[in-house]
Amino acid sequence: AVVGGGAGGTASAFFLRQLYGTDVQIDMYEPSNVLCGRVATVEVAGRMYEAGASMLHPSNRYAKGILSKFGLKEATRPNVLISFYNGENYTFRSSEWKIVTLFRLLWTFGYDLIRLYWFERSFLNLFDKIYSEHKHGHSFRNMSDFMYTLGQDTFINATKISACQLYADQGFGSNFINMMLNGGLLANYGQTCEVTGFVGAVSMAGIQPGLWSVRGGNKLLCSKLYENSSAHWIKEEVTKVSLTSGGQFAVRTSTNESNFLWLSIVIYSLYDHVIITTPINKDTSKLDVSGACSTYCPSDDNDQRRYRKTVATFVKGKLNSTKFQCESPTCPVILGTSNATYFRTIGFHYPVDFNESTGDTIESGIYKVFSDESLTKEQIDDLFDKHDSVDEVVWLAYPKYSAPENLTSFVLNEAGLYYTSPIESAASAMEMSLISARNAALLSFNDWYAVSEPVNNAKRNAPTEL
Ligand SMILES: Cc1cc2nc3c(=O)[nH]c(=O)nc-3n(C[C@H](O)[C@H](O)[C@H](O)COP(=O)(O)OP(=O)(O)OC[C@H]3O[C@@H](n4cnc5c(N)ncnc54)[C@H](O)[C@@H]3O)c2cc1C
Repeated sequence: AVVGGGAGGTASAFFLRQLYGTDVQIDMYEPSNVLCGRVATVEVAGRMYEAGASMLHPSNRYAKGILSKFGLKEATRPNVLISFYNGENYTFRSSEWKIVTLFRLLWTFGYDLIRLYWFERSFLNLFDKIYSEHKHGHSFRNMSDFMYTLGQDTFINATKISACQLYADQGFGSNFINMMLNGGLLANYGQTCEVTGFVGAVSMAGIQPGLWSVRGGNKLLCSKLYENSSAHWIKEEVTKVSLTSGGQFAVRTSTNESNFLWLSIVIYSLYDHVIITTPINKDTSKLDVSGACSTYCPSDDNDQRRYRKTVATFVKGKLNSTKFQCESPTCPVILGTSNATYFRTIGFHYPVDFNESTGDTIESGIYKVFSDESLTKEQIDDLFDKHDSVDEVVWLAYPKYSAPENLTSFVLNEAGLYYTSPIESAASAMEMSLISARNAALLSFNDWYAVSEPVNNAKRNAPTEL
């Protein structure tokens, strides 16, 4: 069984099907009516917009693989320009002219810009090793092995020190750290460079060119994975997983507990292996695995990390041109770089099905404002000269990161209980969940057949690539 139908859950179901073939039954538990969890669209003024994960990186190979395997298309949208705003003034602003932007970047950040290019490139090259490890059937039992195999001490150290320290150690200046690193982190994770160095490096990768999204909505990645997994979607919330004396896992849901006369009847389903793809802690899921875990037991006691509230406010309107000194809607994405701003980012967004060739114009877009708390009417009036509609989506978006990060286990019980969420201790992103899902499916498959690694692909009839 797979618990959760987000990117991690649907991908786990799909990868399990690829590895095991048609002989196994796969049940996927997801109580919501829509798949993809923190990847979701919201309807604003009659069009659909990304409300959760909106951008994918060009080096996200699993997401790209799903896109091309299932005939999905990348969304078309104009280039994204960014600016940094400290609450009173712009400290950096890109121009529609690329050469002007480059000049301004070099003027503001100097050699740190070149340093960033090389640093991120070597970081991404190390991280890319995960795809060949998976292709050869390697799976990782815990986060320490995962990080060490990919980036040896470099990656492990990056989870032990703060991003401020990591970038300072690499020779980046305070201007870069205060503006670019902090601005990127506030925009991506709502946190400053006190997060771990690894989260900082993932966040900096996200401000590079070539970001993409799926035409029609990123959640289509999940729908395609689910459809092609032939899994059975059970629309129920799992409350408890326990290990039976027969060595199987009993999965209990909120709807299969009922009282009949004086008897309390508990019905559960039995599985050989279970993959849990939702974070287990007070904020996100009340799932009780204490009767099933032995290798590692995620709980409130040992995972104190809280999930950060993030509010996405969608406004159809005209940005305050006096405050931001630019005309809607060509203003760059505005990143608040200090705690003096009550918003984290303001950006112009296009509907997920935006298509200029079918007559869509810039007017079909809206502004999306990310903030820690719901915006008040006064704040909305301060940001916009006028507005027609305001809609809000509240998320528990990502863990609160701090160094040193605890690197835990993907295996909760060696008898076959797996957990994808420990990868979020490195960084939270769609591709990270897809990677962890592939890893969990490989763990299950390798354990079931007691395959010593590397797996001999000839033993498998199932394809090992997307
Ligand atoms: C506002 C926002 C912006 C983001 N921006 C980006 C971005 O631009 N790019 C990017 O790559 N990432 C981004 N992310 C992060 C990304 O969305 C997540 O890292 C990723 O989608 C997590 O997927 P997941 O499947 O691991 O978890 P989730 O998406 O949380 O899925 C878990 C699923 O499990 C279900 N569930 C929970 N409890 C139970 C239970 N007891 N029984 C059964 N099911 C249960 C939930 O309903 C949910 O569907 C963003 C996230 C947010 C919130």
